[in-house]
Amino acid sequence: MFSGYRFEMIVGCMSAGKSSELIRRIERARLAYLPTIIVRPTTDTRSRPNHVESRNGMASQAIVVDSAKDILKYSSHAVVIGVDESQFFEDEIIDVIISLLRQKKKIIASGLDLDFRGKPFGPVPHLLALADRVDKLLAVCRKCGSDFACRTQRVVHSSEQILVGDAQYEARCIHCFEPPGEYQLRLDLPKIEQAVPQLVLAAQEAVELAS
Ligand SMILES: [Zn+2]
Repeated sequence: MFSGYRFEMIVGCMSAGKSSELIRRIERARLAYLPTIIVRPTTDTRSRPNHVESRNGMASQAIVVDSAKDILKYSSHAVVIGVDESQFFEDEIIDVIISLLRQKKKIIASGLDLDFRGKPFGPVPHLLALADRVDKLLAVCRKCGSDFACRTQRVVHSSEQILVGDAQYEARCIHCFEPPGEYQLRLDLPKIEQAVPQLVLAAQEAVELAS
């Protein structure tokens, strides 16, 4: 039996370092001689087969499962269970994690909290509510360079919620994020910058009239 957090969630947009943080925490559990496994769904094709890989080059062996229920098959000897790309699992993952927690196991799960539309992704909001530790990681905005990217911008046109691949996405801050369908709307809105010089001119005229 170990003390500390029982269910940790690592969330954020793409390129925020979620997988490397998951691998780092699992490695620490291994250093403490705790039996560990990492599982990930088949939908994530970025990593090599039977591995979880981060963009900064960290890698660890992982068990690829077709459904969340399969995690129960592989976790009998594990004490700490890492779950990568948890947003791609069906809602069944919620009951699976509750069941693992009842078996006194520790869960560390990572995943996207929001999809490309900026809406909560799959079972992740429910898992965040169940977790006793939540870390929301931020990335660097690919448009303005700020350190506060929290949205995943899809840069190709598709209405599918799941479109796997790094080339189709980039991390954006909340100001640079353009949700699909709203970009055109934003272009149609009157620009505030254009209204400001008019106000300045009006103020200058008022000063001239008064003098
Ligand atoms: Zn930005």
